Amino acid sequence: MNYDQARAIESRNMFAVYEKIRQPMVMARGEGAYVWDTQGNRYLDLVSGGRAVTALGHCPPAVVEAVREQAGRLLHMSNDYFTEPQMELARLLGEVCVCPRVFFCNSGAEANEAAIKLARKHARTHHGPDQFEIVTMLGSFHGRTMATLAATGQPKYQAEFAPLVPGFKHVEFNHTAALEQAVNERTCAVMLEPVLGESGVYPATAAFMRACRGACDRVGALLILDEVQTGLGRTGKLFAYEHYDVRPDVITLAKALGSGMPIGAMLATDEAATAFAPSDHASSFGGGALAAAAALAGVRTIIDQRIADNAARIGARLLAGLQNLAAKYPVITAVRGIGMMLAADLAQPVAAEVRAACLRRSVLIQVVGDSMLRFIPPLILAAEQADAGLAALDEALGEVAG
Ligand code: PLP
Repeated sequence: MNYDQARAIESRNMFAVYEKIRQPMVMARGEGAYVWDTQGNRYLDLVSGGRAVTALGHCPPAVVEAVREQAGRLLHMSNDYFTEPQMELARLLGEVCVCPRVFFCNSGAEANEAAIKLARKHARTHHGPDQFEIVTMLGSFHGRTMATLAATGQPKYQAEFAPLVPGFKHVEFNHTAALEQAVNERTCAVMLEPVLGESGVYPATAAFMRACRGACDRVGALLILDEVQTGLGRTGKLFAYEHYDVRPDVITLAKALGSGMPIGAMLATDEAATAFAPSDHASSFGGGALAAAAALAGVRTIIDQRIADNAARIGARLLAGLQNLAAKYPVITAVRGIGMMLAADLAQPVAAEVRAACLRRSVLIQVVGDSMLRFIPPLILAAEQADAGLAALDEALGEVAG
């Protein structure tokens, strides 16, 4: 199938929701940091499958092997029954995370939904029904379901879907005074991404993270870290909370967790987890055997092969390369990054043109709005691949804004 054929089917048989973002090819296979389209063209993938999902690159052998093996054995049994992959995954996550209790679901939005429900129930149990507000950040992204949409601090995603789920308050990110003013005896949780991802790679400051913890402690609220994007190595540590001197009550994961298979997780401290009584939450597919087997193999690989260290090392190389490009091309007004989350601000609205120029050089990058480039490469990226990506970007910038 070629791009025109795929487009024709999309315009006839699919919702229009992805029409504006589709890139002009049909992807057919992947290996490591490379992906090939149906015409046989190879691309260097600096977006981890497009949304920071394929953290171990495409088709990591250990994950593929685990999926093959599990698919031939048992695809699914619901949570009425135990399966070994789910139990082993729960044990492994419990060993490496400060929040040792897990609930499995199928996506980042679902993990955040679970966290929102947990926080409401936790506060109701301990403080009564009036403590239900959740404070989140302007510029945040927590998902597209109704509650996570209300949590997301970006009116552009919300405007058409009012009335939103009530009980969410948004404050300016990294603004301690605004946070402290917003958190009161009605607050059941503060929820934030340790690094704002979708809106352009802005890490929380250490002081702000401490203030979030302090504000939660002051009123008995839960600190929820949305690590759907940052979790499992992307920032150069296994979890982004490790960059801070702060212990969260709840952490949500998805994306990297499944290495491309759909799975999400809410992790919580023993204390926070007690808020959910039997039947308070559930999922038909959550933690299913196939996805759990993939996640188990992927998370083991991330830990055993110290993939987060590579993310830190290669991320620093990419950041230095972006800084060099910023010195060469005045159109770049700022660059920033932590591990394998990087962004470059542009003085003009030429982000889509730069992305297209990179694509002509067989390199996939992302844009945020009209004037920002974003890079979320697979955590296994090699130094030569990082350099090849930077060289393509150099040429692309020369073409568009030289
Ligand atoms: N939270 C964060 C920080 C994200 O970046 C995303 C997706 O981009 C989500 C939640 C939603 O995850 P999903 O698309 O798996 O529902």
